[in-house]
Amino acid sequence: MGDTPVGCRPVSSSAPTPVPSLVIAVDGTSGSGKSSTSRGVAERLGLRYLDTGAMFRAITWWMLQHGVDVHDAAAVAERVDEAVIVSGTDPASPTITVDGTDVAVSIRRDDVNAAVSPVSAVPEVRTRLLRLQREVIAAAATGIVVEGRDIGSVVVPDAPVKVYLSADPAARAARRTAEEGSADVEATRASLLARDRIDSGRATAPLTRADGAVHIDTTDHTLAEVIEMVVALVEDAGART
Ligand code: C5P
Repeated sequence: MGDTPVGCRPVSSSAPTPVPSLVIAVDGTSGSGKSSTSRGVAERLGLRYLDTGAMFRAITWWMLQHGVDVHDAAAVAERVDEAVIVSGTDPASPTITVDGTDVAVSIRRDDVNAAVSPVSAVPEVRTRLLRLQREVIAAAATGIVVEGRDIGSVVVPDAPVKVYLSADPAARAARRTAEEGSADVEATRASLLARDRIDSGRATAPLTRADGAVHIDTTDHTLAEVIEMVVALVEDAGART
């Protein structure tokens, strides 16, 4: 399967989209290990992989590029249908483009980090991306690991495997600092906690541990161990169906 074009579609009613039988929903805070775990599990099990955070970052990047005031929800809502977002779901090399531009690096910049939570709290943004996410998921015939904040609660509430990852703020900041190649752990920690506050407190689809989600605190575990735990949950779910 190649990249899935998911942009430029009108937002209309929320008719249910069929989902593949194996969807693994991975939610949690920033820096809890969601991305590395999700990619590792998808590679182990031969599944596709969708990073929904990258989609919210991509919309945010587009708003910044077009001079939209990201703290003005009405202004964001008015432009939300314009960006054409394409998510590539190969776990070995996931991609994200906006209007044909590869934004994989630019969506990790500080200006996007600072703006993404306010943009993600705008209901029209969530409505649009929910539809796009469900289209990508429906196209993944072999199954898919989907990571985000509201996957098990809103995007795929019927997912057979749901995981909620957390970690101590210090561990999360250290991981993100290393990933971003930044030297300022304290600034990274403050940025993560600010995003957590907005993501958990927003009215629409807040970050939450979904019904039926298994909580894994990754603070004292290696990545390999956490991948193993999730794979065991998948195998267990298979054994039960
Ligand atoms: O996962 P990542 O840290 O890249 O996500 C960036 C931001 O995108 C989050 O802080 C949150 O505001 C938003 N997001 C969301 N819902 C998702 C995934 C991400 O609101 N399912």
